[in-house]
Amino acid sequence: MSIEMSSYKPKGFAKTYTTKDEREYQGLGCLAHGCPLPGSMSLSTDGQGKWYCRHHFGKKPMENDAITLKINQFMWIDEAATRLLRATDYYSGNAKITSFDIAFENVKGIIKDAGRNDLLPMKRLTKHGIEIDETSRTHKREFAWANRLLEAFNLEIHGK
Ligand SMILES: [Zn+2]
Repeated sequence: MSIEMSSYKPKGFAKTYTTKDEREYQGLGCLAHGCPLPGSMSLSTDGQGKWYCRHHFGKKPMENDAITLKINQFMWIDEAATRLLRATDYYSGNAKITSFDIAFENVKGIIKDAGRNDLLPMKRLTKHGIEIDETSRTHKREFAWANRLLEAFNLEIHGK
């Protein structure tokens, strides 16, 4: 018994990307009501699916509002990390001081004002025993600090 080639219709691969037009169908935001984050995750393979942020994706609808509340409450931590990571978008450096140096001082101020001294740059060991000095004002070290801020944001939303 042979397969007739004319009846063989490959199903193709599930689409793992989406086009700009498809994203505009929903807009770029997370579909959960009031969520300020971009919709970056979907199970959709046809471009008509629902897009959620990484915090709302896969959650029960009844959980959405509580998650949105926490995201909005702690969004400032995510924004502080973004200021460090994309300093040149936020600050104008010059020959004497770089955008990253300005971001470093500015974000420290934001964190102190919020009363979260636990989030200030520090010397610490990673879980692999590697020492990280977040207090040094080099671009790489600030990236390590920004990662800890993003982890802190996630912990505030999903618990410790
Ligand atoms: Zn969301």
